[in-house]
Amino acid sequence: MTSFDFFEYRDNELFCEDVKIKDIVKDAGSPAYIYSKNLILKNYREIRDAFADVSPLICFSVKANSNLSVIKALADAGSGFDVVSGGELYRVLKVGVSPDKIVFAGVGKTSEEIKYALENDIFMFNVESPAELANIDRIAGSLDKRGRIALRINPDIDAKTHDKTTTGKKENKFGIDFESASQLIKNIDDYNNIDLKGIHVHLGSPIYSTGPYVQGLEKVYKFVQETLDEKGKEGIEYVNIGGGYCMSYTGEEVKRPRDYAADIVPLIKILGCKVVMEPGRFIIANAGILVTNTTYIKIATWGKKFVICDAAMNDLARPSLYDAVHRAWPVNTDVPMPKVEHPGGEKGDDRLELVDIVGPVCESSDVLAEKRWFPDVKEGDLIAFFSAGAYGFTMSSSYNTRPRTCEILVDGDSFSTIRRRETYEDLITGEKEFLSA
Ligand SMILES: *Cc1c(COP(=O)(O)O)cnc(C)c1O
Repeated sequence: MTSFDFFEYRDNELFCEDVKIKDIVKDAGSPAYIYSKNLILKNYREIRDAFADVSPLICFSVKANSNLSVIKALADAGSGFDVVSGGELYRVLKVGVSPDKIVFAGVGKTSEEIKYALENDIFMFNVESPAELANIDRIAGSLDKRGRIALRINPDIDAKTHDKTTTGKKENKFGIDFESASQLIKNIDDYNNIDLKGIHVHLGSPIYSTGPYVQGLEKVYKFVQETLDEKGKEGIEYVNIGGGYCMSYTGEEVKRPRDYAADIVPLIKILGCKVVMEPGRFIIANAGILVTNTTYIKIATWGKKFVICDAAMNDLARPSLYDAVHRAWPVNTDVPMPKVEHPGGEKGDDRLELVDIVGPVCESSDVLAEKRWFPDVKEGDLIAFFSAGAYGFTMSSSYNTRPRTCEILVDGDSFSTIRRRETYEDLITGEKEFLSA
């Protein structure tokens, strides 16, 4: 099966694995995030197997999708985890993940978060500044622990992603420049409670070519060879090459893990390091959809047609935040979905009309799909937003005091709720006790 077969139209009706989307919505309501467990696992195995030559520790990036049942499914398959906050660490530990499979990134880890991670003996911190290194050293000392660290390098590489998702250019807040890293490594013995384990590079995402990874590793190799002495070199036991591996949002052909591996694995072998990888969206983006119900159709006299649905920017933030394109298509339709989505492009099938699909939130940016050739839909028709498994639910909020959606996991011919829909009561919890009489 290809990725898309896990979300497939059979007799004009969208299925996730062997379950009708319509049946899930009948049970769970709308909007709802729906994930395919077997596609999540297939994607995990695909990236693991592509890099098998260098036996990577795969650390799924929890910020892409942090549902406990998703973490559990991946942990059971052998995955490690990349966390960026104490809250994410709490989730991963709650599921019972072994701490020696957890890495912790982020430019602003607080003392509480560092303490929490040290107390739980996580595998490694990806350190993003000299000040943070000093803080980890101090806290590790006070706890009588060792802080295992990789230095996150900012290699000043343009990964050609959206400005808001690129992280490896020198003006971005992430990582440490080579110069400072070299100083830190030279003086690493000044940090009594730190074990230097390696180097970390994460360039941003999604990265549609292997070039930036190759350039990053070449720079790391040059740095290790030309700047570090023997002792410094020994400290570089691991190289963490981060995440950002792409998947196709629009149906275009994109690189697969084996393509990345073909270019990256030889460099890792030359470096002679163990490797850590932090894929997020590759594993879960295509394994999830957001399904929504059509509330109204509105057609302006000058011709513009709006499809107003019950999901909004608070449920799926990527279009309003990054101009991201998610394919959208009715759940029940006899019009085939085009192979590739070109927003604002050519009209394909005669039965299509140009629409904007919008949510009910009081913001003009609450447009989930702009200028799409779309089949005729009516009130009550369900629409699926595809490739919404990563940075979908995790970026959702309750803006406009909208309860966050439920999350559903499909496995073969059955499905289960893995997060219940929030209630109005949930939304005022934490406030109502302060209401003065
Ligand atoms: C977000 C993030 C990732 C994952 O990026 P994807 O595009 O989801 O693969 C990996 N590593 C770090 C440090 C991140 O911040």
